Amino acid sequence: MRQRQQSKDTKAKLAPKQKISYEKKTDPALTEYAVQSLNWLRQAEFLMSAPKLALCVEDTGYEIAFAGRSNAGKSSAINALTNQKQLARASKKPGRTQMINFFSLGNPDQRLVDLPGYGYAAVPEAMKIVWQKELENYLIHRKSLQGLVLLMDIRHPLQHFDLMMLEWAHSRHLFVHILLTKADKLNRGPANKTLLEVKQQLKKMKLDFSIQLFSSLNRIGLEELSSVMAGRLNYTLEQPSEFDLNEIPEVSETDIEE
Ligand code: GDP
Repeated sequence: MRQRQQSKDTKAKLAPKQKISYEKKTDPALTEYAVQSLNWLRQAEFLMSAPKLALCVEDTGYEIAFAGRSNAGKSSAINALTNQKQLARASKKPGRTQMINFFSLGNPDQRLVDLPGYGYAAVPEAMKIVWQKELENYLIHRKSLQGLVLLMDIRHPLQHFDLMMLEWAHSRHLFVHILLTKADKLNRGPANKTLLEVKQQLKKMKLDFSIQLFSSLNRIGLEELSSVMAGRLNYTLEQPSEFDLNEIPEVSETDIEE
């Protein structure tokens, strides 16, 4: 018995340690979709800025608006997503910070919209009220608006502005996809804990919205976001059909006999 135990121990010592992989298996089709979506989003081009709904680009096709309190990381997220360092700077040019900024995604009928960051200290109170009214107008009346990507700093989620946006979106039956930004600021444990807590709060409020971790700095969550964008904007993969009738060999009589 002792001998058997000993040989078992030696065997264990001699046996090469097997690495157990905890890596999550991803669906290859989904990954392909994410990669193509990212390539597609890289075609983003600045279209125009509008101070109010009446002056926006024509209300056709589909658009998704990015919203967040100022400093939530919205410009960095748009730049990371479109892989263009300067793109969202267009929205930050003097005079454009309080405007609705439109970007086409390879096609003027598929758009990303950068809404003004809420809470700029430099903006006088009266202007903030005017702007809030314009934002409300846009959110309520814009037909091509499919939904929102709402950005919240992971260290300060669900502030007053965020709750207001969630309520508006819910009342208009728009989807909301929440990004907990700057996820790199927290370790993985606390970041996942916050993710779970915010999910629970949404559930309590009976809001069926999607949410993910995001970091422009180390590119956490880019694929997930690009897939959501592509899916919601009706982007279809540009793949030639792999099925070609001419490629099928004709069946001969001998084939059937075999
Ligand atoms: P916006 O006002 O919402 O457009 O925010 P910005 O994109 O301008 O970002 C505000 C600040 O947060 C800047 O100093 C950025 O460098 C920083 N920031 C943005 N995204 C990230 C991120 O993913 N990680 C970290 N650590 N900082 C970020």
